[in-house]
Amino acid sequence: ETTSFAVRVAPLGSFGQVLVLAEDQTERRRVEAVRRDFVANVSHELKTPVGALSLLAETIQDAADDPEAVTRFAARMQHEAARLTYLVQDIITLSRIQGAEPIPAPAQVSIDEAIGVAIDHCNTRAGAKDITLVTGGTDGLRIWGDEELLVTALRNLIDNAIAYSPEHTRVVVSTRPAGESVEISISDQGIGIPEEAQERIFERFFRVDTARSRATGGTGLGLAIVKHVAASHAGEVSVWSKEGSGSTFTLRLPAFGGTAIPAQPAIPLE
Ligand code: ADP
Repeated sequence: ETTSFAVRVAPLGSFGQVLVLAEDQTERRRVEAVRRDFVANVSHELKTPVGALSLLAETIQDAADDPEAVTRFAARMQHEAARLTYLVQDIITLSRIQGAEPIPAPAQVSIDEAIGVAIDHCNTRAGAKDITLVTGGTDGLRIWGDEELLVTALRNLIDNAIAYSPEHTRVVVSTRPAGESVEISISDQGIGIPEEAQERIFERFFRVDTARSRATGGTGLGLAIVKHVAASHAGEVSVWSKEGSGSTFTLRLPAFGGTAIPAQPAIPLE
């Protein structure tokens, strides 16, 4: 990539002196390109369910005299509408946090409680696949952060663990202290992630298998949200995975009672 500068020249005083300002345009152009890509992706992603909905509406009109077909198409319309809702929700969540501004009012958050709320949300999906959700590790740990964001991140990770695992397996959510941080890991016995994809899965709309992600109701934004939640806590998310054996995602967040969250530089868009 070439580096480019915007140069501005401004007259200064009356002795022919000028002020020359050189501004690095490379980063600005990169951020702009990322933003353009994102907008293009969002409109593509929105068009898919909207297109399906209008097609289904047409089909339903033609099938008016076949009540069984009407019921079937209506169910599919509901499914597409739900997908649209998840997508819009995720886009809103992501745009609220992706400036990576520090959390407005950090407070002490009980990890056990946050995990409990997240698991409550995911129980039905786990039950449908006979996946056992297990918690373990150290009880009573607290972080310094935002409960709603923590629950969102945990839900996304547990939801993924369920979505990308076969039936009758286990998902383990485990916590442990790690210096001035707390680590929460979510392990599954699922399909795993190919090594070359592991560093890309946190990018917005990146999926290893688009068809599979869609089939499980994925928006392609879950892990991007997790990454930004971690960053807004001055924390980190990492992944270990082996194809065919499973994956472990680890969130490292500042422990309550440790050092306060340092001022955050805006994290660059990926
Ligand atoms: P999606 O909505 O597609 O699940 P995410 O951002 O949550 O989007 O995840 C991005 C991609 O990473 C997924 O499409 C999937 O290919 C992969 N992935 C995420 N979590 C797991 C997991 N626990 N096991 C296997 N693959 C996963």
